[in-house]
Amino acid sequence: MAREGETVFSRLRISRHATHFRADEPEKRTSDRPFGCPRGVFLPSFPRNPSFLPVSEPLFSPSCAPTWKSNFLAISLQSYEGFRVQHNMARGPMKGGLRYHPAMDEDHASALANLMTWKTAVIDVPFGGAKGGINCDPKKMTEADLHQVTVSFVEQMKEVIGPTIDIPAPDVNTNAKVMGWIMHEYSKYNGFSPAVVTGKPLDLFGSEGRDAATGRGVMDVLGEALAEQAKTFDGTTVAIQGFGNVGRNAARLIAEQGAKIVAVADHTGGVASDAGLDLSALATWVSEHDGVKGFAGGEAFNSADIITWKADVLVPAALEAAIHKDNAADVKARIIVEGANAPTTPEADAILNERGVLIVPDILANAGGVTVSYFEWVQNIQQFKWDEEKVNAELDKKMSRAYRSVREVANTHQIDLRTAAFVLAIRRVGKAALARVHLRDQPVL
Ligand code: NAD
Repeated sequence: MAREGETVFSRLRISRHATHFRADEPEKRTSDRPFGCPRGVFLPSFPRNPSFLPVSEPLFSPSCAPTWKSNFLAISLQSYEGFRVQHNMARGPMKGGLRYHPAMDEDHASALANLMTWKTAVIDVPFGGAKGGINCDPKKMTEADLHQVTVSFVEQMKEVIGPTIDIPAPDVNTNAKVMGWIMHEYSKYNGFSPAVVTGKPLDLFGSEGRDAATGRGVMDVLGEALAEQAKTFDGTTVAIQGFGNVGRNAARLIAEQGAKIVAVADHTGGVASDAGLDLSALATWVSEHDGVKGFAGGEAFNSADIITWKADVLVPAALEAAIHKDNAADVKARIIVEGANAPTTPEADAILNERGVLIVPDILANAGGVTVSYFEWVQNIQQFKWDEEKVNAELDKKMSRAYRSVREVANTHQIDLRTAAFVLAIRRVGKAALARVHLRDQPVL
């Protein structure tokens, strides 16, 4: 029995399901929505047999492929529940963050693990998809509690994670410090293993450039989107929702290219300036006051209005479902770059596409973080360190290449960028899965 204040993993429940689908067995499909997908999260779902997927492949049904799930793992704790959902490893070890949040549950982990499979495939890093976390609230816990929960979690997970199996990373409410604890605990059982997690502190074999990587990727794909419309950053106005890791770094890097950040909003409020916000002063203010509210370098506005702000570009970099059916028709931006995961609901996506707004989808736009996580893993395995210049140059190259590949699929099949990104990803995962087995066998995906 746990003493008060003690967090102990008292029960362990592990279940693994390998689900096989065949094109000729469509009835095996459980539902139109992928397994465990919370409402409002955009996961691939296509009409039957669209022409842009390789339907001739007997083992690769477009209607079934997105619903693959495998190696589902749940760990129950006495005080909290921990989850790790391992979605797919056809292209490599599974990769995905650990989220510590009271609302964390199997459905969230499943949906986000699913997205990770497609994200790693779109950006073309040799990983699959996973996600996990604990339904705890770090804001109400001491650091010692947090450490104990993390240590216990690793103890339970140590058999199912590893540098060639499943490599966790930070997500909401976890950070480099937590990753350092995980590396240390895992290494106790397996020897020195820095490659078991990414997003570690620089002093513990983290990578240069990881902190700003997602924001940098957002800047890269925005540059591509502007270029194909014969525009440049110069004179472009940008509104950003969220001023955390993604929003703050994206704002800084986009402004460095010559664009004007005219509005920023976070959970405390919004602040705007037609002349462009002083981002360094705003960053200092936010670090001292835990939000943009009260910043004197611009006019205050209601946080929710950021979505419909008058700007050329909107970067949602905070929440899921920030753009929904009730505000999509009023979005003024002509380009949306999804820094957050799943910021646009399927209904809003349809409205925006109808209106001709270009949406650079999350699985492409925010893939900069997982890309530099891949670089970190590579450096750890090689026991070699890259400087920040090399990390940034390699990241820029990967983001631009991915954008152009997605654009090519979109142009070829006359589909939007989100559908094209899923098509590209599903093709890559499907081909890898098929190449692993003889056709008489069903692939274990
Ligand atoms: P963060 O915690 O550093 O920042 C979150 C920001 O969102 C904060 O500024 C917060 O004030 C703001 N926010 C919270 N509630 C809000 C509300 N109701 N209205 C407006 N703003 C609100 O998180 P982050 O790491 O920047 O992640 C942001 C999003 O990007 C998440 O969806 C995350 O999953 C996604 N993402 C992050 C990374 C990464 O490398 N950090 C990579 C890929 C995707």
